[in-house]
Amino acid sequence: MKVVIADECCLCFGANRALSLAQEKIAEGKKVALFKQILHNKRTTDQLLNAGAVQKDNLDEITSGDCVVIRAHGERKDTFDYLKGKGIEYVDGTCPNVKAINLLVYGKNAEGYKIIIVGKYGKNGGKMHPEVAGTAGWCDDPIFVEDEEDVANIPLQYPKYYLVVQTTFSCEKANELIQKTRAFLENNGKHFEFRNTTCGAQKRINESAERLAKDVDCVIVVGGKNSSNTKELFNNISGKTKGFLVEGLEDVKDLVQQGELEHFEKIGLTGGASTVREELEEIKNYLETFKK
Ligand code: SF4
Repeated sequence: MKVVIADECCLCFGANRALSLAQEKIAEGKKVALFKQILHNKRTTDQLLNAGAVQKDNLDEITSGDCVVIRAHGERKDTFDYLKGKGIEYVDGTCPNVKAINLLVYGKNAEGYKIIIVGKYGKNGGKMHPEVAGTAGWCDDPIFVEDEEDVANIPLQYPKYYLVVQTTFSCEKANELIQKTRAFLENNGKHFEFRNTTCGAQKRINESAERLAKDVDCVIVVGGKNSSNTKELFNNISGKTKGFLVEGLEDVKDLVQQGELEHFEKIGLTGGASTVREELEEIKNYLETFKK
């Protein structure tokens, strides 16, 4: 059996940066409080907790002396205001791409635009994506759009609208929704501007996985099952070859035990934007060793 790792995969720049900031602060001996789930990756989060960090998911759990690490998804403006107001030390791990969207939305809101956020906002019982929740906290009562039905329901009482997109939302779907929103608003005499803020990192990981899928018998996608970009990666792959979604080595061992992988000669491995490359290397070693 041959195992090939995708040339572009795993921890994106933003997630890597937030992780490094947390590690640096732990190394400095700070009382690090990870504010909400820093990565959709249990193993890496556990490593931080074992190194001395603590998990805090609500502002009222934060105490003076904590050094709060804000994750790459970012946070609402009032979270930063709260920390500053209380004089609590924090490091802003918000991905610079996400921060740029937050500040764009803040500025456009102040200029009188009604903000539209395209992204997963918790429709049909789903959960609002944390980045969407963070961005929403930089403007007044934004309009959320996840599909065409939402476009048709955009309230029309505002003169001008500005649209941004969740960075990990599908770029193609975002383009479609932007065009539909533009048509809907302009046909109703409204002023419309937008920026397609989907992230290039995610696109490159998806494209690399698609290339890999053409060259192997199946692809194992490694990542948190609640990570939106990992799910998108898996859905993308599943349409092109046999795909498996796993959280880590233990899940791969289960697949092997169940005989799911025994017919494949060449297996591809890729990881979502919150997966560390080390995990893929371990899975590769395991699969290659196991078959020998
Ligand atoms: S996917 Fe892109 S925007 Fe999102 S955290 Fe990673 S680098 Fe930043």
